[in-house]
Amino acid sequence: MSAIGIDLGTTYSCVAVLQHGKVEIIANDQGNRTTPSYVAFTDTERLIGDAAKNQVALNPCNTVFGAKRLIGRKYDDPQIEQDIKYWPFRVVNDGGNPKIQVDYKGKSICFPPEEISSMILTKMKNTAEAYLDTEVKEAVITVPAYFNDSQRQATKDAGAIAGMDVLRIINEPTAAALAYGLDKNLKGERNVLIFDLGGGTFDVSILKITEGSHFEVKSTAGDTHLGGEDFDNKLVDFFADEFQRKHKKDLRNNPKSLRRLRTAAERAKRTLSTSTEASIDVDALFEGIDFMSRISRARFEELNSEFFNGTLVQVENALNDAKIDKNAIHDVVLVGGSTRIPKIQSILRNFFNGKKLNLSVNPDEAVAYGAAVQAAILTGAGESKIQDFVLVDVIPLSLGVDVLGGLMSKIIERNTKIPCKKTAEYVTVEDNQSTVTLDIIEGERAMAKDNNQLGSLKLFNIPPAPCGAEKIEICYNVNSDSILHVTAKVKSTRKQKHIKIKNDKGRLSQADIQRMLADAKRYQYEDDQERERVNAKNMLETYAYDVKHAIEKATSKMEELDITEIRSKCEDTFRWLDDNAMAETEDFQDELKELKDLCDPVITQINGTTKGQRGQPKTQNRRGRINIDEVD
Ligand code: AMP
Repeated sequence: MSAIGIDLGTTYSCVAVLQHGKVEIIANDQGNRTTPSYVAFTDTERLIGDAAKNQVALNPCNTVFGAKRLIGRKYDDPQIEQDIKYWPFRVVNDGGNPKIQVDYKGKSICFPPEEISSMILTKMKNTAEAYLDTEVKEAVITVPAYFNDSQRQATKDAGAIAGMDVLRIINEPTAAALAYGLDKNLKGERNVLIFDLGGGTFDVSILKITEGSHFEVKSTAGDTHLGGEDFDNKLVDFFADEFQRKHKKDLRNNPKSLRRLRTAAERAKRTLSTSTEASIDVDALFEGIDFMSRISRARFEELNSEFFNGTLVQVENALNDAKIDKNAIHDVVLVGGSTRIPKIQSILRNFFNGKKLNLSVNPDEAVAYGAAVQAAILTGAGESKIQDFVLVDVIPLSLGVDVLGGLMSKIIERNTKIPCKKTAEYVTVEDNQSTVTLDIIEGERAMAKDNNQLGSLKLFNIPPAPCGAEKIEICYNVNSDSILHVTAKVKSTRKQKHIKIKNDKGRLSQADIQRMLADAKRYQYEDDQERERVNAKNMLETYAYDVKHAIEKATSKMEELDITEIRSKCEDTFRWLDDNAMAETEDFQDELKELKDLCDPVITQINGTTKGQRGQPKTQNRRGRINIDEVD
């Protein structure tokens, strides 16, 4: 059984598998090698991927995208506040956590971001299963290197809800480095900088690759909230302002207009990567007013200059942390769709003193490619060259506890190799202190409150003693997924007490995951049922049309056949279909059977008379077309 690699992107996702010694990127049912990370809800069905994105203009409030920007974050996160302004779908505050509210089958339903992500993962899993023709249970999923503990855990939960055993969560740039290193036959030691700018996240990682097989991450930096969508937002604002100036109307409160403008803006952005000017032309954008405009590449670059130049800050941070001079970088590898922007490339090239950038990996597929390699390593599949790969990654943010005065005391420094385990000792701060509350913190700021609180745990029954006499030993253990496990013990009682991070604020409980897993199965079942229903309807409609066309063509030569009844039965069927569009699968099947019982013998005769004994028309494919030979 194969294990797959999934790049769960903000805007697009990609799935790959290593088979017969090579990595294959798996195309979806539309033949596309990447799948939009979109989920849509309608009165009758749930759509995922291309089908969801294709109907977004018609159903903007119930088409969800960018769930990766929400995953593992709190509702009051300022970044979320920014995003909500641009999203046509509703995000609500559920006890401090963001949830996405949509209308589905006539009901209002709230989904946590993990559940939306799990739907996309399920789609990727199904894509792989259709290609491999076998069930897929195991996957490696990638996350931005700069994702924090809650975001990683939430992504892992999404994998579990999709019914997969997540073998490992790996960092996107590290996966891209694997893809880069695999085919290169690299010799000696090479310092490689991976610059990964996608739809919603930005990562920089510096790796030392030794003899093409030992991949050691030296440092990582980035912004989990910067990418192509931000550049789209700037364009949307630019054009919405222009519309307001010209027509004195604000289209921003109309989700449909906003969505259509966004689609046009994204297209213009892509054009600007190859042309110096792009135009947009949207019919009846708002209140029936057509909108036409142009934007130059220079203007686009100016609108985004802060974002673009800001990427260099992260490059410098990564170099400083890795203690590597920029001249010692052998290769700068570009990953992620947004690295196609010429200005991004020129800023980077100038920073590296005119160095030629490495564009050899496919920016959209490299991450899934590397994830598939890692999945093969972990399951012992693949040739020995791959099994010899060693991957050493690091934690992106320092981990510590909140101590007296609200300071953060670091237990594990950022960029420490994983897995890692460190123990630190703390003392009580009051006489006869019987309880201790430990706030588990992640981040680089001096004050705990400025960092990210992952959770807290409480120790009880500390024996009475003077201030500072009782010692508490805290152990932080970061596993290969970069996910943290914490234990603490009161030293005097020598009782080893295991305490898990108690963080209900940012994470799903096992019970939540089980419930969502059951929901996921139910939704999948409902999707399959709906697909079957629509197929049955199509079969009936197609058969009726094919019969109608066949008899129309045949009438002149078929005087001896009585086709009046057939013609009127076909007309009845079309009327019935108009009145019963929402009928059940069985109803369509019954109608089809009745129609076929009446028509098949005549169709056989038509075929027989016109082309010799050609036999029964046969059902041809999933869409239910029947094959009636042309009458010549
Ligand atoms: P990824 O998450 O790596 O798939 O990147 C997707 C992002 O890349 C989206 O925001 C796209 O709009 C953006 N993108 C893709 N192609 C281009 C292009 N030719 N020029 C500018 N941005 C692009």
